[in-house]
Amino acid sequence: MTTLIESEEHKALRSAVAALGRRYGRDYVTRTIAEGRHPTELWAEAGKLGYLGVNLPEEYGGGGGGIAELSIVLEELGAAGSPLLMLVVSPAICGTVISRFGTEEQKRTWLPGLADGTRTMAFGITEPDAGSNSHRLTTTARRDGADWLLTGRKVFVSGVDQADATLVVGRTEDARTGTLKPCLFIVPRDAEGFSRHRIDMELNAAEKQFELFLDDVRLPGDALVGGGTSHASGSGGEDAGLLQLFAGLNPERVMTAAFAIGMGRFALARAVEYARDRTVWKAPIGTHQAIAHPLAQAHIDLELARLMMQKAAHLYDAGDDAGAGEAANMAKYAAGEACVKAVDQAVHTLGGNGLTREFGLAPLITAARVARIAPVSREMILNYVSHQTLGLPKSY
Ligand SMILES: Cc1cc2nc3c(=O)[nH]c(=O)nc-3n(C[C@H](O)[C@H](O)[C@H](O)COP(=O)(O)OP(=O)(O)OC[C@H]3O[C@@H](n4cnc5c(N)ncnc54)[C@H](O)[C@@H]3O)c2cc1C
Repeated sequence: MTTLIESEEHKALRSAVAALGRRYGRDYVTRTIAEGRHPTELWAEAGKLGYLGVNLPEEYGGGGGGIAELSIVLEELGAAGSPLLMLVVSPAICGTVISRFGTEEQKRTWLPGLADGTRTMAFGITEPDAGSNSHRLTTTARRDGADWLLTGRKVFVSGVDQADATLVVGRTEDARTGTLKPCLFIVPRDAEGFSRHRIDMELNAAEKQFELFLDDVRLPGDALVGGGTSHASGSGGEDAGLLQLFAGLNPERVMTAAFAIGMGRFALARAVEYARDRTVWKAPIGTHQAIAHPLAQAHIDLELARLMMQKAAHLYDAGDDAGAGEAANMAKYAAGEACVKAVDQAVHTLGGNGLTREFGLAPLITAARVARIAPVSREMILNYVSHQTLGLPKSY
């Protein structure tokens, strides 16, 4: 049964990445944060080993695998205490969108670098006045000769300072109907009129979040993913934005689930170690069922979430975008909840030590919440399941 769920190749990848993660681990992350750096050494080594681009096509330097493999990479690095948040964004969203919908030129320009980690790309969709309601996006692109002029604002975009470019979700105005259509633009970090402001987050992470200002940012025609005109396949340019967006969002949910499961496993392992040793009565505290059972429950919840994540990744990699949508949402929901509970119980298990710097679990209390909020909140997933799966009417 285990091999049905996870192949020998996947198991081998899991243990190889886990070994890399152990060589870096939580102490490495804590040090890089204290020094105000990015985890560049881990990123570079993971890139060299082929882990960062494991999902990208072989002809562009990737490993030829899928989101199933990339989610294993992120989960195992997270379980070792050294997750790489930019994996969710750079190879998973941006790499997927470009390899599925980019022009040949965009693929050749970006994919080899995204695959070996020498280049990264951030992803900006969230806007201050739209939030969960992406129908309200107002970042707008208009034509100016062969160029585009992009204007708008984004918020909470991760890793813009370290990324060579940001994949920005905007809209273009359909000249015939006046309808606004989503469109994805590759915006270089130093483009004129593109500025950023770091948001002061209560998060102990190397990756930072930014508010972005796009003020008539002039972009060449080929900055639009898929190029300026629609392809016969319907996969390129102005008319394809919605397809491109959905192609990127399912991997994002799967990868957020992997991020959450990895973090939950890391916290749980620290708690189990502690509960085995710490003795304040006759036997270690792990002997008391009030301590052991919630840890067992946390383990079960993480395993169940992983099962749904594997289903979502499998459907996505098999080309079933619609089926993957439901499973990816459910996996993200389950993993976010399992992670928050696992971290909460881990901190509690350590008593006062749960809040000390030395044991390092307390920062995970806020970090775990990210998986409940982003990239789509718990409530929006419950809405999705209510409407799409159960067929209940909408309240909004
Ligand atoms: C650490 C971090 C990293 C992030 N990285 C990125 C990134 O790289 N790129 C990017 O584009 N964005 C990023 N985000 C943004 C993230 O995707 C948004 O925060 C998320 O989509 C929620 O949007 P919001 O914060 O505007 O909340 P809102 O939409 O304002 O929601 C606030 C609350 O209201 C609830 N709510 C809203 N509508 C409904 C409804 N119809 N029914 C029930 N409840 C509802 C929500 O569930 C939530 O609890 C990041 C966020 C964080 C915290």
